[in-house]
Amino acid sequence: MAEQLIESWMRDGKVVDGLMPDFHAICAFGGRRSGSGQDSRALDWALGRLAALPGQGSRVDVPYDGWHCRRAELTLLSGNGRRLACNPLLRSMSTPAEGLELELVDLGQGREEDFMRAGDQIRGRAVLVRHEYPFAATHMHRRRKYDRAVAQGAAAFLIANPWEGGGLMSGSSGRGRGQPGIPAAYVDYAAAAALRQEAAKGTARIRFAVLGEEDENAQAGVGIFQIPGGRPGQVFITAHMDGHDLAQSALDNATGVAVALAAARALAPQVSDQTASLCIAFFCAEEWALSGSARYLEQLPDNARANIKLDINLDTVAGDDSLTALLSDFPALEGYVRQAGQASKVAVDTWLPFMPNSDHANFARHGIPAFRLVAGFNRPDSRVRNILSAGDVPGIIQEREMLQALRLTLGLGWIALRMSDEQLDALKAR
Ligand SMILES: [Zn+2]
Repeated sequence: MAEQLIESWMRDGKVVDGLMPDFHAICAFGGRRSGSGQDSRALDWALGRLAALPGQGSRVDVPYDGWHCRRAELTLLSGNGRRLACNPLLRSMSTPAEGLELELVDLGQGREEDFMRAGDQIRGRAVLVRHEYPFAATHMHRRRKYDRAVAQGAAAFLIANPWEGGGLMSGSSGRGRGQPGIPAAYVDYAAAAALRQEAAKGTARIRFAVLGEEDENAQAGVGIFQIPGGRPGQVFITAHMDGHDLAQSALDNATGVAVALAAARALAPQVSDQTASLCIAFFCAEEWALSGSARYLEQLPDNARANIKLDINLDTVAGDDSLTALLSDFPALEGYVRQAGQASKVAVDTWLPFMPNSDHANFARHGIPAFRLVAGFNRPDSRVRNILSAGDVPGIIQEREMLQALRLTLGLGWIALRMSDEQLDALKAR
């Protein structure tokens, strides 16, 4: 039954023909950095794309700690001295206008053991660490390295593109408004090499200036399209709309949004008196430490939140031919994901540990079974490594990867809609 339905959807022009045009349309809004207005316009466009389906679209705007950078400068003072490229982390702490003059400690990759080995040397100095491929079993996230640097008394934090010839990257510091923190920025591969060379002589001195400004009253859009079923439970398919401004945020996450739109076109007619409701949700300010979905879920009444039975989160679902479901410590999701893989004839791996790297993490924190579907897990050499960089452009995405992600999402959605309330509740078991 499921197999035939999925095959028929994948041959149905009304479902599939829009997949790549939607993907390109989302990329055409720009990088969709929250605060730029591009994410907000793309969100309204996506709700418009769903308007022909039998359901109700709505948009709410939730507050988040907006911020923008007015000026950032990094200068290597030792050696011959020169200006180095840098891109401040979102919500970096500001320096005095004239900048800070600091000694720099090279912590290599910046793992726990590197921080421990450096010990007291870190206090009052700038530290240099390396970005790691984020979708790997063993990786240490930027924000954890940043938090470690803050905890050990560092005066500034620099994180380097680790790939030869690699350019600047973007990411959030995770620092909330009014919270303490330190100035922090990405540096490109060449800048890191220059810094490291001087640090190896024991003489690396830098001047680092970041001048940021709070965006008071910043709002993140959340678009919800609700297709009501006959039972109180709701199955969510979610994808974040916002991105970074170095490129078009194609992988991360035009891929997920376009697949969610196509899945909605196929699944909407399957919602009935017998099924749970289907909700397609698009979040902005995901790249801001997952703020948009966090605020959205917090402001829901308890009973509304309790009706959410499952979050299927699509984030970076193409860029490699492998797909993995990150199960957020919900072991009961494994059998369900495997069943969907069989029904859709798509190979899908699972990874059980909680990985707070997309909006599914906020659903999971509220006890809602939630997982993120991601391409390229444990494949640091895949095209997925272009996320957060100027390489995150539409040209690196292959249509067959998009079709595969859609196929699997149809299986996941269809099986979830067919589950009884008891079966959905059983996914919570931990
Ligand atoms: Zn993402």
